[in-house]
Amino acid sequence: MNIHEYQAKELLRAFGVAVPTGYPAFTVEEAVAAAAKLDGELKVVKAQIHAGGRGKAGGVKLAKTDEEVKQYAAEILGKTLVTHQTGPEGKVVQRLYIEEGSAIDQEFYLGLVLDRSIGRIVIMGSSEGGMDIEEVAEHTPEKIHKEIVDPVVGLRPFQARRLAFKMEVPTKLVNKFSDMVMKLYKVYVETDCTIAEINPLVTTKDGNVIALDAKLNFDSNALYRHSDILDLRDTTEEDPREVEASKHDLSYIALDGNIGCLVNGAGLAMATMDIIKHYGAEPANFLDVGGGATKEKVTEAFKLILSDDQVKGIFVNIFGGIMKCDIIAEGIVAATKEVGLDLPLVVRLEGTNVDAGRRILDESGLAITSATSMDDGAEKIAALVR
Ligand code: GDP
Ligand code: MN
Repeated sequence: MNIHEYQAKELLRAFGVAVPTGYPAFTVEEAVAAAAKLDGELKVVKAQIHAGGRGKAGGVKLAKTDEEVKQYAAEILGKTLVTHQTGPEGKVVQRLYIEEGSAIDQEFYLGLVLDRSIGRIVIMGSSEGGMDIEEVAEHTPEKIHKEIVDPVVGLRPFQARRLAFKMEVPTKLVNKFSDMVMKLYKVYVETDCTIAEINPLVTTKDGNVIALDAKLNFDSNALYRHSDILDLRDTTEEDPREVEASKHDLSYIALDGNIGCLVNGAGLAMATMDIIKHYGAEPANFLDVGGGATKEKVTEAFKLILSDDQVKGIFVNIFGGIMKCDIIAEGIVAATKEVGLDLPLVVRLEGTNVDAGRRILDESGLAITSATSMDDGAEKIAALVR
């Protein structure tokens, strides 16, 4: 789960990480009022969306007067920002963050991620902050320095200092920098982050080390133990179909293709997407209804697929082990009764109660193409949408 920059900064502040003072604003009036509470000449007006690259897209503006704060707030609120992380459709800005300006000396990059191949947290740092770290990784990978954390002893202070020296943090500020790295590691572990990224982490002209941007991502499977973080969820930033799916406890990921897939089991769902691609077509989604799905859950899943107007055909691929084929069939029939079905539907059913399942589908009067195997089904649906 993702949260906004201003929420991430509030959380970092609670852990003692230095961040500039700022206030969120939902209207231009609130933005002006927020700016009035801040010290200093320079104020920063920042778009709050769940994506980076806002600066380049015009979503971060430095204001020198209250008049400019008002002007920038009016300009950014409601605007659709298209950044390299939003996709071409962009994201509408519904919130702003008004922050005191910082006198930046140097910009650095600091990121914590879990490296799954070694099962350890990796701290990455670079003197090339502020810009796209992906570009740095591609063109000058030697400028990205890493420290791997041993999970038994946790991050050691010497590692934080070693990283500082490799990143060429000014000697006077090495202690402040290392302190921030240690705190960020604590945030990462204690709040179950999957990503904690500060880009840029800046040194200021008056000798401070500050997190100027903050991106925190959390492991959804651990959110049950962080209800305060779960409260920060902004579902308007998420794909509406994925939000709907999560309400029904369905594993659903929207994709770009036109074949809707209803499958049980994550492995079979992945294999189904692969085989659809093998036959030259593209899946519209990943959807795993799980093992013990009820008729209601299957109905919701099927309705979800039908709500995507990119979908031009549906492939139901069920291997009934724990899942029973007749439950799937009942769900399909119930959903199509509610919302109608005028798309080609290929069904491959195998396993527990398969005969009962087939009977339900046969008697439903739906125009179903049955498939004898997964391979046969994928080939048939690919041909039907073509
Ligand atoms: P992103 O583009 O979405 O990653 O947004 P950031 O929060 O990283 O802001 C983009 C850039 O705006 C930063 O790299 C800075 O160069 C600049 N910026 C942000 N806040 C300040 C500030 O307080 N003072 C100055 N001078 N520049 C800032
Ligand atoms: Mn940034």
